[in-house]
Amino acid sequence: MKFSLVADTLGYMEGTTKRLELTQHLVDLFKITPAEIIPKVVYLLQGKLRPDHEGVEVGVAEKIAVRALSKSTGVPVSKIEHEYKKAGDLGQATAIILEQKTQTTFLKEDITVERVYDTLFKIAELRGNRSQNMKMKYISSLLNDASPIEGRFIAKIITANLRLGIADYTILDALSIAYTGSKENRPSLEHAYNVCSDLGRVSEAVAKKGMEALKHFQVSVFSPIRPMLAERIKSPEEAREKMGSEFAAEYKLDGERVQIHIQKEKTVLYSRSLENITSYYPDIVEKIGKSIKARDAILEAEAVAINEDTGEFLPFQELMHRRRKYNIAKAVQEYPITVNFFDIMFLDGKSCLDMSYSDRRRSLENVVTEDAFAKVMPMTLVKTDDEVEDFLENAINSGCEGLMLKQLDSSYRAGARASNWLKLKREYRNELGDSLDLVVVGAFYGRGRRTGRYGALLLSVYDKESDTYPSVCKVGTGFTDESLDQFYQILSDKIIVKKDSRTDSGLEADVWFEPEVVIEVVASEITLSPIHKVALGKIRKGSGLALRFPKFTGKIRFEKTPENATSSSEVMAMYNGQKKVVQNEKQF
Ligand code: ATP
Repeated sequence: MKFSLVADTLGYMEGTTKRLELTQHLVDLFKITPAEIIPKVVYLLQGKLRPDHEGVEVGVAEKIAVRALSKSTGVPVSKIEHEYKKAGDLGQATAIILEQKTQTTFLKEDITVERVYDTLFKIAELRGNRSQNMKMKYISSLLNDASPIEGRFIAKIITANLRLGIADYTILDALSIAYTGSKENRPSLEHAYNVCSDLGRVSEAVAKKGMEALKHFQVSVFSPIRPMLAERIKSPEEAREKMGSEFAAEYKLDGERVQIHIQKEKTVLYSRSLENITSYYPDIVEKIGKSIKARDAILEAEAVAINEDTGEFLPFQELMHRRRKYNIAKAVQEYPITVNFFDIMFLDGKSCLDMSYSDRRRSLENVVTEDAFAKVMPMTLVKTDDEVEDFLENAINSGCEGLMLKQLDSSYRAGARASNWLKLKREYRNELGDSLDLVVVGAFYGRGRRTGRYGALLLSVYDKESDTYPSVCKVGTGFTDESLDQFYQILSDKIIVKKDSRTDSGLEADVWFEPEVVIEVVASEITLSPIHKVALGKIRKGSGLALRFPKFTGKIRFEKTPENATSSSEVMAMYNGQKKVVQNEKQF
């Protein structure tokens, strides 16, 4: 398949921010793509080579890309750099240089999607001293045969600058329309995606066998499952309303969620957002064989930092020390953990997703051998509000955040936030209740002591329906001098020239960012707002929802992707919950 078809589609997509149009361009492309190469096309459209959890990155430095372009066109590096400065974008500069070259040379062979993909893959695998030269050779040979528009997108992809923001859900919509004839079938595609987190695999299955393939889509070891999530509740009564007469209450520990995949001697760990985090926890890899009796398995656990002398659980922030490339052995010594298993999704060749909670729990208890390092999450069956209150009290006294309440007959619903799992925290009872995880989309320069750094950040939620980031507040409190410096540094990588096409806000920030960094915020209440865009028009015409008195809690949610941030519908539910409390209070 000609790469120009993909490049043309990317070109059209750059010209629009409307989701319907974006989807239609994708549908048109998928319809002419042979089934064998659909995964490659799907990855390339997102500027990737494999799903994120495999950690395959092209990531060529811009300097190398410029030198490669110079090598293939004979144009001096200084001229390319000049063009780059003028255009402000290496892709655009590459297109201009290639345009000039096409006018002076004869044409060359067509480049194919397969050639582009395979070359980029070879580049991603290069390591070591001589890799820079090899990278340059591969890139210049591609650019040698590329047309200006092809060159533009090759340059963007290799330097990880393809910022079209096509989210997974938009691709699922387009796949559904192209291969099953209707967007109505998207839930089946989404299910397949939720159990493997690999759009390439899903696209190939549906392109080859249509809906039939989706019915038999299997869980497999080393393909992470999108985690099941919980709804917030404020009281035990609410749990009874949602779950009936008897349900399970588990401790809710404040650590890092780890999805553990084991097959024979191999163990891979995935984070809440399915990043491969195996290297941060060599102690889990080392000890898991002793703790788990299974040939192969996928389990979920909360890794929690502990004080080894007292056995006390330590706060989540302590685990941050594990996030380092070097000296991990020292961090393992200094910040010991326990691993607290709470679910099992696959055991000895069979998926456990459709089993009830009770059956999965039984299976989990059989499989885990407890010791000082590995535990099964404390659980009790509860029937009355008093029993929930008592267990909550125990949990808090043991250093937990609260309780997770789970319906006994519910299956494991990958990727869903539903009322089969509820979270009850102590602080839910006052003010707004839970904290929110929000995406930093913009910033305002600071004044006074904050001069030279950001004084406030513009924050958004994620709206899954429209695949956008509507703003919900501007936050300027809760920052220390240290965190202001840290933000300035982290965010400097994410600056973009104009507002991201998926960011939606009535405020004009001084600086815009790619929606990537997620931080935790608390607030006193949710109010209607003419400026912020969450749930715009859903409660009152022309108004969105905003947070009142937002405050940064000090937690950067490094384990969350922007799509894992608090969603518009959750903010709506919090707003409605808040109204209920006010109404109830008024009655008395
Ligand atoms: P969410 O994961 O629901 O988006 P979050 O990451 O902000 O939200 P919380 O709202 O605090 O976290 O609650 C869910 C998290 O609680 C899980 O992702 C998991 O890491 C943790 N957790 C602790 N104990 C349990 C348990 N017994 N069962 C399930 N999850 C647990």
